[in-house]
Amino acid sequence: MSPHFPPASTPSADIRGLSLRYPQGPAVLEGLDWQLLPGQVVGLLGRNGAGKTTLLEALLGLREPSSGEVQLFGQPAQVLDDATRARIGYVPQHSDLFESFSAAQLLAYFRSFYPRWNEAKVEGLMSRWDIDRDKPIRKLSGGQKQRLSIIRALAHEPDLLVLDEPVASLDPAGRRDFLRELVGEVLDRGATVVFSTHILSDLERVAFNIAFLSQGRIALQAPLDELLEQVRAFTGSVTEVAALMARLGAQPLKRIPLEAGRERVLARLPAHAELPAGVAADRLNLDDLFTELT
Ligand code: ADP
Repeated sequence: MSPHFPPASTPSADIRGLSLRYPQGPAVLEGLDWQLLPGQVVGLLGRNGAGKTTLLEALLGLREPSSGEVQLFGQPAQVLDDATRARIGYVPQHSDLFESFSAAQLLAYFRSFYPRWNEAKVEGLMSRWDIDRDKPIRKLSGGQKQRLSIIRALAHEPDLLVLDEPVASLDPAGRRDFLRELVGEVLDRGATVVFSTHILSDLERVAFNIAFLSQGRIALQAPLDELLEQVRAFTGSVTEVAALMARLGAQPLKRIPLEAGRERVLARLPAHAELPAGVAADRLNLDDLFTELT
Protein backbone atom coordinates (compact mmCIF):
# COMPACT_ATOMS: atom_id res chain seq x y z
CA MET A 1 0.00 0.00 0.00
CA SER A 2 1.33 3.46 -0.85
CA PRO A 3 1.99 5.44 2.33
CA HIS A 4 0.41 8.46 0.63
CA PHE A 5 -3.02 6.99 0.11
CA PRO A 6 -4.38 5.53 3.33
CA PRO A 7 -7.64 3.63 3.00
CA ALA A 8 -10.62 5.95 3.35
CA SER A 9 -11.42 4.45 6.74
CA THR A 10 -8.12 5.69 8.26
CA PRO A 11 -8.68 9.23 9.50
CA SER A 12 -5.92 11.72 8.72
CA ALA A 13 -6.48 13.06 12.22
CA ASP A 14 -8.27 11.33 15.04
CA ILE A 15 -8.81 13.16 18.33
CA ARG A 16 -10.38 11.40 21.31
CA GLY A 17 -11.33 12.95 24.61
CA LEU A 18 -8.94 15.88 24.23
CA SER A 19 -8.77 18.23 27.19
CA LEU A 20 -6.33 21.08 27.42
CA ARG A 21 -5.88 23.74 30.04
CA TYR A 22 -3.16 26.39 30.13
CA PRO A 23 -1.36 26.79 33.48
CA GLN A 24 -3.43 29.05 35.74
CA GLY A 25 -6.10 29.31 33.03
CA PRO A 26 -9.53 27.78 32.58
CA ALA A 27 -9.94 24.65 30.46
CA VAL A 28 -9.92 25.57 26.76
CA LEU A 29 -10.74 22.14 25.35
CA GLU A 30 -12.85 19.69 27.32
CA GLY A 31 -13.26 16.11 26.18
CA LEU A 32 -13.18 17.01 22.50
CA ASP A 33 -13.65 14.33 19.83
CA TRP A 34 -12.88 15.08 16.18
CA GLN A 35 -12.10 13.00 13.12
CA LEU A 36 -10.83 14.37 9.82
CA LEU A 37 -10.99 12.10 6.80
CA PRO A 38 -9.05 12.05 3.52
CA GLY A 39 -10.79 14.23 0.94
CA GLN A 40 -12.45 16.52 3.48
CA VAL A 41 -12.16 20.31 3.47
CA VAL A 42 -13.17 21.44 6.94
CA GLY A 43 -13.72 25.01 8.03
CA LEU A 44 -13.31 25.37 11.81
CA LEU A 45 -15.58 28.10 13.15
CA GLY A 46 -15.59 29.54 16.62
CA ARG A 47 -15.66 32.85 18.40
CA ASN A 48 -12.49 34.69 19.36
CA GLY A 49 -10.91 32.85 22.26
CA ALA A 50 -12.97 29.68 21.70
CA GLY A 51 -9.75 27.70 21.34
CA LYS A 52 -9.30 27.27 17.56
CA THR A 53 -5.54 27.96 17.62
CA THR A 54 -5.13 25.78 20.70
CA LEU A 55 -7.03 22.95 19.00
CA LEU A 56 -5.02 23.16 15.77
CA GLU A 57 -1.74 23.23 17.74
CA ALA A 58 -2.82 20.22 19.80
CA LEU A 59 -3.87 18.44 16.61
CA LEU A 60 -0.35 18.92 15.24
CA GLY A 61 1.27 17.64 18.43
CA LEU A 62 2.64 21.11 19.27
CA ARG A 63 0.76 21.31 22.57
CA GLU A 64 0.59 18.62 25.16
CA PRO A 65 -2.97 17.72 26.12
CA SER A 66 -3.99 17.59 29.77
CA SER A 67 -5.71 14.35 28.79
CA GLY A 68 -6.91 12.54 25.71
CA GLU A 69 -5.26 11.33 22.52
CA VAL A 70 -4.39 12.78 19.15
CA GLN A 71 -3.37 10.50 16.28
CA LEU A 72 -2.21 11.59 12.84
CA PHE A 73 -2.27 8.87 10.18
CA GLY A 74 -2.46 6.32 12.98
CA GLN A 75 0.54 7.64 14.96
CA PRO A 76 0.53 9.63 18.22
CA ALA A 77 0.81 13.27 17.14
CA GLN A 78 3.63 14.10 19.55
CA VAL A 79 5.98 11.35 18.35
CA LEU A 80 5.59 11.20 14.57
CA ASP A 81 8.24 9.53 12.46
CA ASP A 82 9.88 11.64 9.72
CA ALA A 83 7.88 10.09 6.89
CA THR A 84 4.59 10.93 8.61
CA ARG A 85 5.76 14.40 9.56
CA ALA A 86 6.51 15.04 5.87
CA ARG A 87 2.83 14.35 5.09
CA ILE A 88 1.71 17.36 7.13
CA GLY A 89 1.63 21.03 6.17
CA TYR A 90 0.98 23.85 8.62
CA VAL A 91 0.35 27.55 8.14
CA PRO A 92 0.42 29.23 11.57
CA GLN A 93 -1.54 32.38 12.21
CA HIS A 94 1.59 34.50 12.64
CA SER A 95 5.16 33.62 11.96
CA ASP A 96 8.01 36.05 12.38
CA LEU A 97 10.67 33.46 11.66
CA PHE A 98 12.98 33.79 8.67
CA GLU A 99 12.31 37.52 8.35
CA SER A 100 15.80 38.18 7.03
CA PHE A 101 15.58 35.41 4.41
CA SER A 102 14.29 36.18 0.93
CA ALA A 103 11.34 34.11 -0.34
CA ALA A 104 13.72 32.21 -2.62
CA GLN A 105 16.03 31.38 0.33
CA LEU A 106 13.12 30.34 2.52
CA LEU A 107 11.77 27.97 -0.14
CA ALA A 108 15.22 26.50 -0.84
CA TYR A 109 15.67 25.90 2.89
CA PHE A 110 12.36 24.08 3.25
CA ARG A 111 12.85 22.13 0.03
CA SER A 112 15.91 20.49 1.62
CA PHE A 113 13.70 18.83 4.27
CA TYR A 114 11.12 17.19 2.08
CA PRO A 115 11.42 14.14 -0.12
CA ARG A 116 8.51 15.44 -2.18
CA TRP A 117 8.49 19.03 -3.46
CA ASN A 118 6.41 20.34 -6.34
CA GLU A 119 8.64 23.04 -7.85
CA ALA A 120 6.23 23.69 -10.73
CA LYS A 121 3.44 24.42 -8.28
CA VAL A 122 5.72 26.69 -6.25
CA GLU A 123 6.86 28.62 -9.32
CA GLY A 124 3.30 28.93 -10.64
CA LEU A 125 1.95 30.29 -7.36
CA MET A 126 4.92 32.64 -6.79
CA SER A 127 4.23 34.27 -10.17
CA ARG A 128 0.45 34.25 -9.90
CA TRP A 129 0.46 35.62 -6.37
CA ASP A 130 3.09 38.18 -7.31
CA ILE A 131 5.63 37.58 -4.56
CA ASP A 132 9.06 39.11 -4.86
CA ARG A 133 11.60 36.29 -4.64
CA ASP A 134 14.58 38.40 -3.60
CA LYS A 135 13.36 40.94 -1.04
CA PRO A 136 13.83 40.11 2.65
CA ILE A 137 10.58 38.63 3.94
CA ARG A 138 10.26 41.41 6.55
CA LYS A 139 9.73 43.87 3.67
CA LEU A 140 6.80 41.94 2.19
CA SER A 141 3.24 43.05 3.00
CA GLY A 142 1.14 41.06 5.49
CA GLY A 143 -0.85 39.52 2.62
CA GLN A 144 2.30 38.56 0.69
CA LYS A 145 3.83 36.96 3.78
CA GLN A 146 0.66 34.97 4.28
CA ARG A 147 0.63 33.81 0.66
CA LEU A 148 4.28 32.81 0.90
CA SER A 149 3.52 30.82 4.02
CA ILE A 150 0.68 29.06 2.16
CA ILE A 151 2.96 28.28 -0.81
CA ARG A 152 5.54 26.85 1.57
CA ALA A 153 2.90 24.62 3.13
CA LEU A 154 1.46 23.44 -0.22
CA ALA A 155 4.86 22.80 -1.86
CA HIS A 156 5.50 19.35 -0.41
CA GLU A 157 1.94 18.27 -1.27
CA PRO A 158 0.88 17.38 2.26
CA ASP A 159 -1.85 14.83 2.88
CA LEU A 160 -3.00 16.90 5.86
CA LEU A 161 -2.91 20.66 5.52
CA VAL A 162 -3.67 22.73 8.65
CA LEU A 163 -4.14 26.48 8.33
CA ASP A 164 -4.84 28.89 11.17
CA GLU A 165 -6.85 31.92 9.95
CA PRO A 166 -5.08 31.71 6.58
CA VAL A 167 -7.18 34.27 4.76
CA ALA A 168 -7.20 36.97 7.45
CA SER A 169 -4.85 39.33 5.59
CA LEU A 170 -5.75 38.39 2.02
CA ASP A 171 -7.95 40.62 -0.09
CA PRO A 172 -11.16 39.13 -1.58
CA ALA A 173 -9.49 38.24 -4.90
CA GLY A 174 -6.60 36.60 -3.02
CA ARG A 175 -9.07 34.63 -0.92
CA ARG A 176 -10.91 33.28 -3.96
CA ASP A 177 -7.69 32.18 -5.62
CA PHE A 178 -6.52 30.64 -2.40
CA LEU A 179 -9.75 28.72 -1.91
CA ARG A 180 -9.51 27.33 -5.45
CA GLU A 181 -6.02 26.12 -4.60
CA LEU A 182 -7.23 24.40 -1.46
CA VAL A 183 -10.06 22.66 -3.21
CA GLY A 184 -7.65 21.61 -5.94
CA GLU A 185 -5.51 19.97 -3.26
CA VAL A 186 -8.41 17.90 -2.11
CA LEU A 187 -9.81 16.99 -5.50
CA ASP A 188 -6.42 16.09 -6.97
CA ARG A 189 -4.93 14.05 -4.19
CA GLY A 190 -7.56 13.22 -1.61
CA ALA A 191 -5.78 15.42 0.95
CA THR A 192 -7.44 16.65 4.13
CA VAL A 193 -7.58 20.41 4.56
CA VAL A 194 -8.62 22.07 7.80
CA PHE A 195 -8.61 25.78 8.40
CA SER A 196 -9.97 28.13 11.00
CA THR A 197 -11.81 31.23 9.93
CA HIS A 198 -14.31 33.75 11.08
CA ILE A 199 -15.12 34.99 7.57
CA LEU A 200 -18.38 33.18 6.91
CA SER A 201 -18.67 34.20 3.26
CA ASP A 202 -15.48 32.22 2.54
CA LEU A 203 -17.19 29.07 3.64
CA GLU A 204 -20.20 29.67 1.42
CA ARG A 205 -18.13 29.66 -1.76
CA VAL A 206 -17.35 25.95 -1.67
CA ALA A 207 -19.22 22.97 -0.24
CA PHE A 208 -17.04 22.75 2.81
CA ASN A 209 -17.62 20.75 5.88
CA ILE A 210 -18.09 23.07 8.78
CA ALA A 211 -17.10 22.30 12.35
CA PHE A 212 -18.32 24.52 15.17
CA LEU A 213 -16.04 24.81 18.20
CA SER A 214 -17.96 25.81 21.30
CA GLN A 215 -17.38 25.28 25.02
CA GLY A 216 -14.32 23.16 24.43
CA ARG A 217 -15.93 20.71 22.01
CA ILE A 218 -16.86 20.29 18.38
CA ALA A 219 -20.56 21.06 18.79
CA LEU A 220 -21.45 19.96 15.26
CA GLN A 221 -19.73 19.05 12.01
CA ALA A 222 -21.40 18.49 8.67
CA PRO A 223 -21.30 19.61 5.04
CA LEU A 224 -22.60 23.17 4.79
CA ASP A 225 -25.49 22.31 2.45
CA GLU A 226 -26.69 19.62 4.87
CA LEU A 227 -26.48 22.00 7.81
CA LEU A 228 -28.53 24.62 6.02
CA GLU A 229 -31.14 22.02 5.07
CA GLN A 230 -31.28 19.99 8.27
CA VAL A 231 -30.67 22.30 11.23
CA ARG A 232 -33.99 23.93 12.15
CA ALA A 233 -35.38 25.99 14.99
CA PHE A 234 -38.57 24.75 16.66
CA THR A 235 -40.64 26.85 19.06
CA GLY A 236 -43.35 25.55 21.39
CA SER A 237 -44.11 24.44 24.91
CA VAL A 238 -41.42 22.27 26.49
CA THR A 239 -43.63 19.18 26.26
CA GLU A 240 -44.67 19.84 22.65
CA VAL A 241 -41.06 20.28 21.56
CA ALA A 242 -39.93 17.18 23.48
CA ALA A 243 -42.68 15.10 21.82
CA LEU A 244 -41.72 16.44 18.41
CA MET A 245 -38.02 15.67 18.96
CA ALA A 246 -38.93 12.10 19.96
CA ARG A 247 -41.21 11.69 16.95
CA LEU A 248 -38.58 12.98 14.54
CA GLY A 249 -35.69 11.15 16.21
CA ALA A 250 -33.85 14.48 16.47
CA GLN A 251 -31.37 15.48 19.19
CA PRO A 252 -31.54 19.07 20.45
CA LEU A 253 -28.34 21.01 19.76
CA LYS A 254 -29.33 24.03 21.80
CA ARG A 255 -32.32 24.97 23.97
CA ILE A 256 -33.29 28.57 24.59
CA PRO A 257 -35.93 29.07 27.32
CA LEU A 258 -38.70 31.56 26.47
CA GLU A 259 -41.43 32.92 28.75
CA ALA A 260 -44.54 30.96 29.80
CA GLY A 261 -43.03 27.48 29.69
CA ARG A 262 -42.08 27.74 26.04
CA GLU A 263 -38.70 27.18 24.44
CA ARG A 264 -36.88 27.52 21.16
CA VAL A 265 -34.87 24.43 20.29
CA LEU A 266 -32.27 24.02 17.59
CA ALA A 267 -32.05 20.48 16.30
CA ARG A 268 -30.68 18.66 13.29
CA LEU A 269 -33.34 16.69 11.43
CA PRO A 270 -32.35 13.18 10.42
CA ALA A 271 -31.94 12.91 6.62
CA HIS A 272 -35.32 12.47 4.89
CA ALA A 273 -37.27 13.28 8.07
CA GLU A 274 -40.90 14.21 7.35
CA LEU A 275 -42.12 17.19 9.34
CA PRO A 276 -45.68 16.73 10.66
CA ALA A 277 -48.20 19.14 9.10
CA GLY A 278 -48.52 22.49 10.86
CA VAL A 279 -45.12 22.36 12.58
CA ALA A 280 -43.06 25.51 12.19
CA ALA A 281 -39.42 24.61 11.69
CA ASP A 282 -37.43 27.69 10.74
CA ARG A 283 -34.36 27.39 8.56
CA LEU A 284 -31.21 29.23 9.65
CA ASN A 285 -28.59 30.87 7.49
CA LEU A 286 -24.87 30.46 8.23
CA ASP A 287 -24.73 33.72 10.21
CA ASP A 288 -27.54 32.50 12.46
CA LEU A 289 -25.96 29.07 12.84
CA PHE A 290 -22.67 30.68 13.84
CA THR A 291 -24.39 32.93 16.37
CA GLU A 292 -26.50 30.14 17.84
CA LEU A 293 -23.92 27.34 17.89
CA THR A 294 -20.73 29.10 18.94
P1 ADP B 1 -9.02 31.24 19.20
O1 ADP B 1 -7.95 30.78 18.27
O2 ADP B 1 -10.34 30.54 19.00
O3 ADP B 1 -9.20 32.74 19.21
P2 ADP B 1 -7.11 30.50 21.28
O4 ADP B 1 -6.83 29.05 21.12
O5 ADP B 1 -6.11 31.46 20.75
O6 ADP B 1 -8.58 30.83 20.68
O7 ADP B 1 -7.30 30.80 22.83
C1 ADP B 1 -8.20 30.08 23.65
C2 ADP B 1 -8.10 30.56 25.08
O8 ADP B 1 -6.84 30.19 25.64
C3 ADP B 1 -8.18 32.07 25.24
O9 ADP B 1 -8.89 32.34 26.43
C4 ADP B 1 -6.74 32.50 25.37
O10 ADP B 1 -6.65 33.67 26.14
C5 ADP B 1 -6.12 31.31 26.08
N1 ADP B 1 -4.70 31.13 25.69
C6 ADP B 1 -4.24 30.97 24.42
N2 ADP B 1 -2.90 30.78 24.41
C7 ADP B 1 -2.51 30.79 25.71
C8 ADP B 1 -1.24 30.62 26.37
N3 ADP B 1 -0.12 30.40 25.68
N4 ADP B 1 -1.24 30.71 27.73
C9 ADP B 1 -2.37 30.91 28.44
N5 ADP B 1 -3.59 31.07 27.88
C10 ADP B 1 -3.67 31.00 26.53
